[in-house]
Amino acid sequence: MVASPLLEVKNLKKYYEVDQGWFKPKTYVKAVDDVSFTVYKGETFGLVGESGCGKSTTGRTLLRLNAPTDGSILFENKDISELPYEKMRKLRRRIQMVFQDPYASLNPKKTIRQILTEPLRVHDLHSKEERVKKAIEILEIVGLSEYHLDRYPHEFSGGQRQRIGIARAVILQPDLIVTDEPVSALDVSIQSQVINLLLKLQKEFDLTYIFISHDLSVVKHITDRVAVMYLGKIVELASTKELFQNPKHPYTKALISAVPVSHPDEKRERIILTGDVPSPANPPKGCSFHPRCSECMAICQTEAPPVVEMENGHTVTCHLFTK
Ligand code: SF4
Repeated sequence: MVASPLLEVKNLKKYYEVDQGWFKPKTYVKAVDDVSFTVYKGETFGLVGESGCGKSTTGRTLLRLNAPTDGSILFENKDISELPYEKMRKLRRRIQMVFQDPYASLNPKKTIRQILTEPLRVHDLHSKEERVKKAIEILEIVGLSEYHLDRYPHEFSGGQRQRIGIARAVILQPDLIVTDEPVSALDVSIQSQVINLLLKLQKEFDLTYIFISHDLSVVKHITDRVAVMYLGKIVELASTKELFQNPKHPYTKALISAVPVSHPDEKRERIILTGDVPSPANPPKGCSFHPRCSECMAICQTEAPPVVEMENGHTVTCHLFTK
């Protein structure tokens, strides 16, 4: 059975104006530039790319933590891109976010009891006693206990804090959780525990995830489909299996070549990307990847490549596939 779309993002843009002074023309940083994708119910959709590619801005814009510049965001077929504040606030019960930094995302002055019951109070859910009961239940589900209820965030390790951050998102029983680099601030030994917790919660609560990460080995493990972003645009989108077995875009190939192989007999040639990601305030003409691309052709320097549809929903934005 084909899952139905939960979220459809169409031509989403998030531009920031750069102040150049009174008499100079306006310029914009195009942090997210014409991004389109669909997230289906129950799946984990990955957004990957180097730092500064626009993946986190995309995630925040979906929740309207940033106001979109243009485009539409359809949640269960309803456009939420211009939803009034109060309606959007109510909808946030159904779309939650887990942040990268478990140290910064929990208020240090509040106890875990307050942190976990507050979202329920804000959304006017349950009585006071029931909220505490729910907080204890969710603490136990994420591997903590009632004993931790009246402690403060600084009394926990990084992994435990991220468990609390996840518990705070899940306590509202949302449909969609956007996780922004949820394990990158954690030790490698703790990362797999948190990933396994996310997978367990997905099954238990029927969750859909957007998983934002720069770490392709984690993305390979947890996601069903992946979109690769470069300088505010999606350059390739495919099922995770297809993307890792048959990457098309030169940027995706370079990213995947850096992922450690899972078997000693497996050989993979490392493609080293030269240069840094250019500034989104002044992107290169044509294909924005062309200054770093080993397969760059003359057309790439002048014309932006179109999105080319391959088989099974695999798309790639590259002139190599337009012939
Ligand atoms: Fe490289 Fe050209 Fe493809 Fe861009 S369009 S990724 S420069 S081959």
